[in-house]
Amino acid sequence: MHPLAKLDHARVWHPFTQMRDWLRREPIVIVEGEGAILRDVKGREYLDANSSIWTNLHGHNHPKINAAIQRQLQKIAHSSALGLANEPASLLAEKLADIASCPLPVASFKKNAAKRSHRKLEIGIRKLNKVFFSDDGSTALEVALKLAYEFTRRTRGEKSQPRFLSLAGAYHGDTVGAVSLGHIDLFHKAYGGLLFKSDQVMSPYCYRCPFNRAKPERDDARNYRRCNWECAGKVEQKFYAQKKRGNPYAAFVFEPLAQGAAGMIPQPDGWLSRVSKVARDHGALLIADEVMTGFGRTGVSKAATSFACQHESVQPDFLCLAKGLTGGYLPMAVTLTTQKVFDVFLGEYEEFKTFFHGHSYTGNQLGAAAALASLEILQSGKSIRARQTLESILCEELKSLWSLPNVGDVRQVGLIVGIELVKDWRTREPFALREQAGIRVCEAMAARGVLTRPVGNVIVLMPPYCTSPAQARKMISVLRDAVDEVFRAG
Ligand code: PMP
Repeated sequence: MHPLAKLDHARVWHPFTQMRDWLRREPIVIVEGEGAILRDVKGREYLDANSSIWTNLHGHNHPKINAAIQRQLQKIAHSSALGLANEPASLLAEKLADIASCPLPVASFKKNAAKRSHRKLEIGIRKLNKVFFSDDGSTALEVALKLAYEFTRRTRGEKSQPRFLSLAGAYHGDTVGAVSLGHIDLFHKAYGGLLFKSDQVMSPYCYRCPFNRAKPERDDARNYRRCNWECAGKVEQKFYAQKKRGNPYAAFVFEPLAQGAAGMIPQPDGWLSRVSKVARDHGALLIADEVMTGFGRTGVSKAATSFACQHESVQPDFLCLAKGLTGGYLPMAVTLTTQKVFDVFLGEYEEFKTFFHGHSYTGNQLGAAAALASLEILQSGKSIRARQTLESILCEELKSLWSLPNVGDVRQVGLIVGIELVKDWRTREPFALREQAGIRVCEAMAARGVLTRPVGNVIVLMPPYCTSPAQARKMISVLRDAVDEVFRAG
């Protein structure tokens, strides 16, 4: 075993990992990366098919991001945001506020003047012009949670008990507040005693629709009844029921367009705008968790948008961003919010309306410099074209997976792909988690030079945007061979 692998075994405790299994085999020790490729200590090359757990955007060792960090490093690496401002954080906040509130290109609304004016109204009222920095997706959610809680108490009255609604299968991070909003028993149940109570509501999962409906966009599908948006109706019912109890929900927390850790589950077109309207009509704040979906992940095919919410013209009150913010280079997160929320925390010092929250590395200069460079690349015509090409190559190549008997569903939202493994595609019977179907397939993929991690029985492909057509094809052909090998062998 390589000495670095031995050191890892001796000392490192890995996240979300059964360490007994980990200690049974020699770990891959990564020492270099370039573009979509990761290189290990033994000189072997791998494709980074999940963008290093959904963080990397433009590839590893990107010359522009490297240069931006190096330039910043010549000046200063970090000074505190407690009591001090700094250059890249201010510039980044301005840039984020600009792109987070930007309207969709007019072309996408030309046919619908009413929708266009509604959109203007939304932006006018809820422009996301205040940026609170933190370190990770979880902390971005904590900030939104605390702000929404306090905002509600201050606007509805100190005695109010703000309650949150999130989606079945939700995952919003591992800090205690974020876990309280989560609904994946495997990760969250053990900590029940530590958590505050929140409610969950059905989220769309068209492949396993309990109403046996076709996806709305596939109205003609045989053997399915027409979708009548029963899942959106459940959200509405939940809001009504809570209102009846005399304590309308303070906030609705959701991942827009696709739920990641739940199993890369896409929401049918129109679901997000429907349920957001319901939440708004019931006076709830909208907390959009775009930790996974942000920065172009959900595709550019519909419009050149940066965020998933923009695809459905939904302007949340809180937008949580992390992972791809720095292009996958450094841990940094932000929670964007509105002037209205900000103003509620203003007052004379002795009124103690201050938002007493923050971390040591809040607004870190190196992270902000990387983020500014990443955003510049993201908005370049070259990146937009590359993403469009990658999206259509994935779409084309993924078709070949449908013929595999253990592939139940192939899902794609822009540059997010989830392949749900099942015992038999006809019955859709799921594998029990202990069978480790997803893990086994990912191990077989790693042996063929493609790295990714499953979420349960779902294999995730989320390639860096710089992935070449040949590399994308390899990711999918390796996945096909791995599924074939694992299940052929029984
Ligand atoms: N929200 C979502 C949607 C996520 O996918 C994740 C991480 N997978 C988080 C929040 C938490 O982010 P982090 O791991 O950076 O704390």
